[in-house]
Amino acid sequence: MDMDRVTGESRGLLALNDLESNVRIYSRCFPEIFSRARGSIMLTNGGRKVIDFLSGAGTLNYGHNNHRIKEALIEYLRNDSVIHGLDMATPAKIAFMETFSSAILRKRGMKYRFHFTGPTGANAVEAALKLSRKVTGRHNVLSFTNGYHGLSLGALAASGNGFYRQGGGLPLSGVTFMPYDGYLGPDYDTADYLRKVFLDKSSGIDPPAAILVECVQGEGGINVASKEWLRSVEAAAKDVHALFIVDDIQMGCGRTGDFFSFEFAGVSPDIVILSKSLSGYGLPLSVLLIKDEVDAWQPGEHTGTFRGNNLALASANAAIDIYWQDQTFSQNVKRMGELMRARLEATSLKHGNSFHVRGRGMALGFDCQSAEIAEGTAHKAFEKGLMVERCGHIDQVVKFLPALTIDTETLDQGLDLFDQSLGETLKQAARFPGAGGQGVGRAG
Ligand SMILES: *Cc1c(COP(=O)(O)O)cnc(C)c1O
Repeated sequence: MDMDRVTGESRGLLALNDLESNVRIYSRCFPEIFSRARGSIMLTNGGRKVIDFLSGAGTLNYGHNNHRIKEALIEYLRNDSVIHGLDMATPAKIAFMETFSSAILRKRGMKYRFHFTGPTGANAVEAALKLSRKVTGRHNVLSFTNGYHGLSLGALAASGNGFYRQGGGLPLSGVTFMPYDGYLGPDYDTADYLRKVFLDKSSGIDPPAAILVECVQGEGGINVASKEWLRSVEAAAKDVHALFIVDDIQMGCGRTGDFFSFEFAGVSPDIVILSKSLSGYGLPLSVLLIKDEVDAWQPGEHTGTFRGNNLALASANAAIDIYWQDQTFSQNVKRMGELMRARLEATSLKHGNSFHVRGRGMALGFDCQSAEIAEGTAHKAFEKGLMVERCGHIDQVVKFLPALTIDTETLDQGLDLFDQSLGETLKQAARFPGAGGQGVGRAG
């Protein structure tokens, strides 16, 4: 190896290889050291700028180090406000619940209580499953093909991905999978199947404690459920007195254009699960929104050390207050989403149109119908300065989750880089069939 080229950068990455568990994944897909970030740009140690269309898998809807939200955090720290107090009452927690209730819930005619869980999405999913089992006295839960709900045991049992499931280490029980919208092709309404199974006492499927669903499947490939399908699934849940739970961890907080991904369908989940972008700043924070009648917990029955992370509550409060007091932000997300979709469709057409563009709002997927092409394109894009992740059952979909606050110029630059990367990957694949892959596993 040319020693001049062994920079601090590559030494650092070699150290990572020695020190960190083999489980690491994003540092393999994006092999650089990232030191600073702002808005939609991440800066490497070496000073290279990378446009971020991954956004912490949907955790950075308001961009990196959003300066308006940061002010609230700095103020909070400067005042020696309570950072950790288990789930004791703090002004930060009360302010968050009041702001969220007035700016988000009441304006949508919704009424929910807040159950703060441990800080990860999986923590919140576990709590939702446990609560629905407690409320109904049933143990089975229905979730959907290609669904993703996290990797702790209960959440993993409700997730479809075979790679993750084989790492579970115990039998994954208590969940039955149903076909998601579109799973059996566009002409088959899979909600009909669900209803039929529920009506038929000999279907072998006992009435479940809950139906757990994502309105757009993020990790599963940006699969989009229709309004009618979601309504049918909700109605089926009501028919058998099962709770209807929407996992809005990745698609909530404005990602699809509305604050919640289910608003457009007019459904009313018994439990809504929020995490990822809830804190607005990449800080860990999760909450269940639960209807009064399902709040069956005994005091302290489901507890944990890090619930209602006060620093994250301070930034969450600021994010809601800054972006969600009126319709402006939401309208802008929808407009930018249309722009992105049009650009991606033009890219698809230009390169032979054997692709599918799908999604809602600013959650879009470019289905390459080939894991190799998707992988080659994402790899090339990173070399050119664009960070995109892949998703779908064989990682065949390139996933676009730019910050909702991105400016059109940066959005355009990123989409240009994607277009070029796809073009070069296709050319290379035509010349060297089978050589498109780079041999790096998926992130997720
Ligand atoms: C990320 C995600 C989870 C899990 O959240 P973690 O914080 O990684 O545990 C659950 N459900 C959905 C839809 C997600 O996108």
